[in-house]
Amino acid sequence: MDLNLRDKVAVITGGTVGIGLAVAEGLAAEGANLVLVGRDKLRGDDAASRVADRFGIIATAISADVATAQGCDAVIKGTAKAFGGADILINNAGTGSNETIAEADDAKWQYYWDLHVMAAVRLARGLVPGMKKRGGGVVLHNASICAVQPLWYEPIYNTTKAALMMFSKTLANEVVGDNIRVNTINPGLVLTPDWVKTAKQIAGEDGWQAHLQGVADEAGGMKRFATPEELANFFVFMCSDKASYSTGSTYFVDGGWLKTV
Ligand code: NDP
Repeated sequence: MDLNLRDKVAVITGGTVGIGLAVAEGLAAEGANLVLVGRDKLRGDDAASRVADRFGIIATAISADVATAQGCDAVIKGTAKAFGGADILINNAGTGSNETIAEADDAKWQYYWDLHVMAAVRLARGLVPGMKKRGGGVVLHNASICAVQPLWYEPIYNTTKAALMMFSKTLANEVVGDNIRVNTINPGLVLTPDWVKTAKQIAGEDGWQAHLQGVADEAGGMKRFATPEELANFFVFMCSDKASYSTGSTYFVDGGWLKTV
């Protein structure tokens, strides 16, 4: 099935590892060129050159902190310099939190607001005008099942991901007439290196797999983690013309973890 993504330019925040890297590889396999964004320059450069070599596409890495206005500017300017603009923006950079509402200070709330919401706002402001000139585009937001089904230990994560979902919906309304589709994807458990690292810290070399199985069992549904590739397939489809009637929506890819309709 030709997804008509060849030579499209995709900007992927957090595209240097985990889910973002799997999405990058999925798009590259369809012939899209890439801008991979992360703070760690070495990891970004390495990921970009590996993906470019493997799939024969052009990939550039931009080292930037998207939780800051300057970092977002660097992504916008770097994309303009490398490709003249973008057709696809994947707002994926993000991370879990761990706190109680009683104890977390304003600075922590502000950091996650900047990372999960303002990055998407600033990058839309900087990249969507170029999409309009190119005749259309796609913006995807990687939120989380926690945007609607909160985990008790991460209220800041739950809240800022819920805000990202609403931002996505309102951006979709604003650009629907410009042939730009905007959607949110809410993953469940996805086995990224970060999960493995944390599990090893908690349960050690001998116990980390059982620990992760316990997490999956508690979630229910399929009682397993997704591979990053399983999630990436959905992102790639949503970037393609095959999803041409989909905008302003949220899609769950969670193996049945969501407990409501
Ligand atoms: P990883 O920790 O594996 O990767 C995160 C990526 O984001 C890295 O490339 C990292 O690069 C980048 N990043 C983090 N902070 C910043 C920043 N301030 N500026 C620029 N880049 C940044 O995460 P996952 O792949 O697990 O998660 C990706 C997204 O998916 C997140 O938004 C997460 O909330 C969401 N998600 C993940 C789930 C899971 O089970 N894994 C489930 C549901 C949602 P660097 O550190 O170099 O900056």
